[in-house]
Formats: sequence, C-alpha cells, structure tokens
Amino acid sequence: MAFLLPLLILLVPPAFLVANAVPNSTFTPINRDLYHSRTELLEQVKALVHRHPDKLSVDTIEAGNKGYQAEITVVTYCKMGRECDERSKFRILLSFGQHGRELITSEVALRILSILSEEQFLPNVNATSLNNTLDKLIIKVVPMENLNGRKRVEEEDPCERRNGRGVDLNRNWSVDWGKKEKDYDPYEENPGIAPFSEPEAQIMRKLALSFEPHVWVNVHSGMEALFMPYDHRNTTPDGLPAHRIKSLLSELNQVHCHNHCMIGSGGGSVGYLAHGTATDYMYDIVKVPMAFTFEIYGDPTASSKDCFKMFNPVDLTTFNRVLNDWSAAFFSIFKLGPHLFDESLSRTNTDKWVSIDEYLDGYLMERRNRYGKKFEVLDLGMQEIRTYFRLFLLSSVLLLFMFCSRIAKSKSSRTGVSPVPV
Ligand SMILES: [Zn+2]
Repeated sequence: MAFLLPLLILLVPPAFLVANAVPNSTFTPINRDLYHSRTELLEQVKALVHRHPDKLSVDTIEAGNKGYQAEITVVTYCKMGRECDERSKFRILLSFGQHGRELITSEVALRILSILSEEQFLPNVNATSLNNTLDKLIIKVVPMENLNGRKRVEEEDPCERRNGRGVDLNRNWSVDWGKKEKDYDPYEENPGIAPFSEPEAQIMRKLALSFEPHVWVNVHSGMEALFMPYDHRNTTPDGLPAHRIKSLLSELNQVHCHNHCMIGSGGGSVGYLAHGTATDYMYDIVKVPMAFTFEIYGDPTASSKDCFKMFNPVDLTTFNRVLNDWSAAFFSIFKLGPHLFDESLSRTNTDKWVSIDEYLDGYLMERRNRYGKKFEVLDLGMQEIRTYFRLFLLSSVLLLFMFCSRIAKSKSSRTGVSPVPV
C-alpha cells in the first residue's frame, strides 16, 4: 500500500490530512489502508456486478424532497441473473451503512458480495452444499444505505450517524415514530419532521414492500449483538416462531460471535428503547417473519469522541476477524433461514392489531403492489394522504357531534315551550 501513499494524499479530503498530521489528536483518523472510501466501495461493488452478470445485477434508486437528494445502490444476487423469478425464491434483504460512522458494515457487504460471486471463499464451507443453498435464494444487498451521511463522516465529522440533513434513518419509520426517551439527544436520534420524511427511508420502505423479504437484517456497529423485535418495547414477540428465531440467534452467537453477542429484543437488551426503527416496521408492517438488527463490532474502551475507533476495527487483525466472522454468519443465515421458515413460520402468523396509521401504510402500499409501478406515485404522496385521511376522520366526528347536539337542542326546546292554544 506504500506506493499508493502519494495518490492517497491527493485523494484524501483536507480534514483527514489535518487529522493525520497531528499525532496527539484525540481521535483516530479513518485507516485508509483498511477501508475503502464511499466512492471506491461503490465502484468495487459495481465492477463486481459487471464481472458476474449471470448472478448479480445492480440498481440505483433515487429520491428527494425539499432540495435534498438521496440515492441508494441495491445489488441483487440470483443464480438466474435478471431472468430470476423473485416470487419462487426465498427472499433476503440486507442493509448496511444506515449510520454514516459505521464504516465496517459496508466492508462486510462488499465481502459478502465477493463470496456470492465466487471471487472470495469462506473457509471450511463445502462448495456443493453452498451452491444448493444459494439455488433457492434471492438476496438483495444495500451496501451503503446512508451515502450522504457517509460523505459527512469522510469529509467533516467522523461521529455523524444521521443522513445528509441531520435525520437518524433508524428513527424515521412509522412504528412508534417520534417518541422521545428522557435521555433523547437530537444529535444522535433526530427522527425527522414526520415518519418517512427522509428519501432514504422512503426508498427502503418501497424496496421492502415490493420485495416482501422473508429475512431482513439491518447491520450496524457500536457493540456486539443479535437483536430481534421489538426496539420500541422491552419484550420480544410471543409464540413458537419467536422462540425458534431466538434459538437461531443463539446458534449464530455460539458459532460466529464467540458467545460475546447480546441476544434479545433491541429495546430490552440495550437498556434504552428506540422508536421508529426499520426493524420494527419490517416486522409489524411488512410482516417480515425474520427481522433482525445485528451489531457487528464495538470498542467500549474508546473515548466517546473517538468515533472511528468506537465503531470500527482499527487494526488489520481485528478488521479481518470481523469480516470473516460476520460474512460466515450471514452465510449461516442463508442456509438456516429457509429451513426455519419451512418448519414454523409463515407470513400470516405475524398478523396482529395495528394502528390506523400503520394500517393505512400497509393498505396503500398493498394497493400499489397489486397495480405495480403505475401506483408508485402514491408513495410520494403517502404523507399527504395520511394527513387528509386524519382530517377527514376528524371533520366527520365534528359533524356528527354538531348534528347530535342540534337534535338534542331542538328536542329540549320543543319540550320546554308550554302549549299555547292558537
Ligand atoms: Zn447504527
């Protein structure tokens, strides 16, 4: 890598040249020998797809509002390439880099895609059995959900976790949106002005509702944990499916996390509740039977200002260990997920009562799915439709109230007047 140094000096933004030049600085700069820049990483992903059109395809989805633009790259793995029949396969959706400062997660995404394209290999894995597993799957990988936030991390603030305009993309979803805990810190958890106000969250919701995954994993760093729903309550769902999911997580913990990982509901295990998260929405509204949040690395000894070190491995050995352990964990899910689903889960048995808001979300999106792309425009106006529906309900109640009170009034005035003979 030494020969790349002059080139890196040209490419690395000035903020990092300053950070690198000050040996006693209180924070660790991004290690460019280990980590790709956002542009390099997405270029590598696209080059990989280009080399393997029989298995991989890529789409870039754009959205924006109020002068803010976002784009998300989505890679699809399926043995049949573009001819793949989504509905006949077991569907897996993985998202990485939802928080800007968690660079390691996107490196894991790249590693998984390299293994899927057979440019890299997992140790101790039988190729035939892996191929049999992969035949049944379609996997969508979002390598860097929060590209604008990541840009801020690389150029301005290594502690940024929110998107390019300061909203936490893991608090912008509609399930239990906007509730604030006592220790609420807007720098960390700003939920935005409304559910799905952010283009990144809109793109991800649309992707999930049209793809209808059986497995969703939202990949983060900051600690080591395997979380299942709920994030906004300190309980996990009841019943056998949830019990089986817990045992899958225990197995992953033993085999790939050296028994270091915390297991349970996000809300119950971390010590604080999180409201408006992607995983709770995937479970409650999209009805994804296996919805998880994985936390793949954290350095609890790092100072709270030293974000690169706190959220990402800084030495080669740890970096490689994290990539190896976690890419293997995902391939275990690819293998075990379909079995678990066949045994005990179906999309219907997660049905439960939902709020009007959540019902509308699901209802309108179901309409959109049924009529295909023509109804995509509905999605853009979803916030407005919800607001009109609420106003409609409110005005109906008011009208009813006025009508009833008028009847009551006229009755009482009739009984109050004494009969006068004409
Ligand atoms: Zn995170």
